[in-house]
Amino acid sequence: MFRLDSKIALVTGGSRGIGRACVEALARQGATVIINYVKGEAAARELSDQIVAAGGKAEIAGFDVADTAATESQVDAIIKRHGRIDILVASAGIAIDGLLLRLKDEDLDKLFNTNVRGSLTVARAATKSMMRSKWGRIIFLSSVVGEMGNVGQTGYAATKAALIGAAKSIAREYATRNVTANVIAPGFIDTDMTAGMTDPQREAIHKLVPLGRTGKAEEVAAAAVYLASEEAGYITGQVLRVNGGMYV
Ligand code: NAP
Repeated sequence: MFRLDSKIALVTGGSRGIGRACVEALARQGATVIINYVKGEAAARELSDQIVAAGGKAEIAGFDVADTAATESQVDAIIKRHGRIDILVASAGIAIDGLLLRLKDEDLDKLFNTNVRGSLTVARAATKSMMRSKWGRIIFLSSVVGEMGNVGQTGYAATKAALIGAAKSIAREYATRNVTANVIAPGFIDTDMTAGMTDPQREAIHKLVPLGRTGKAEEVAAAAVYLASEEAGYITGQVLRVNGGMYV
């Protein structure tokens, strides 16, 4: 089940964290995976080499998802090289925390340009080929805070909530082309993004999570593989929460 042989998958933010775990999991299921990064070329290349050495198929594509022209031309080039993109996991994202009163315009611009506009630009470019091949899977990475809010994360939470509305709309727009669009909303997952948390902050989060721990990137990647699979073909416009029960 959940095999992805002969599928072409693009994972934005695939060099680290959740995106990296998605790359590994999709490649294990047989997909050819294009690993996007913005700064982490060495990490992306190492991951790609590792997958190829294990008999899988992977390559790297560096571009800033907030740069629309670069994103469009790189996605077009991927489509030209491989004939199509079947699966998009839009994991590239940044967090800038701060109470609303202290949020600067430039912080909001960075957050929205990367997390929202970046995800939508890649999706717009990738769906061109999905419409032609009448098969596609779009998966956005939202967050538990996009649904429940969090003190000090007004800007970030707003971007993550926006992706839910976007995926639901894409789901409706592209359904007749057999393209599904879904969202994964992780809770607190151990990656570089959450590495800065202090021990007391971590303990406070554990208390909020019925399963009593933070999550692993691999646990989020398993959800991405499922949503990308043929077997998930009747699931669209949904939010799949991978959060240890923190928000139900
Ligand atoms: P992470 O460890 O900080 O990794 C971020 C990834 O995004 C890196 O691969 C980075 O590439 C890439 N990236 C950042 N800005 C980019 C840009 N402008 N263009 C292209 N790539 C860019 O983050 P993470 O924890 O894995 O989070 C992944 C996604 O899940 C994010 O959308 C995040 O909001 C969401 N999420 C995370 C958590 C969590 O607890 N970790 C919870 C809920 C949701 P470089 O290596 O090149 O810098």
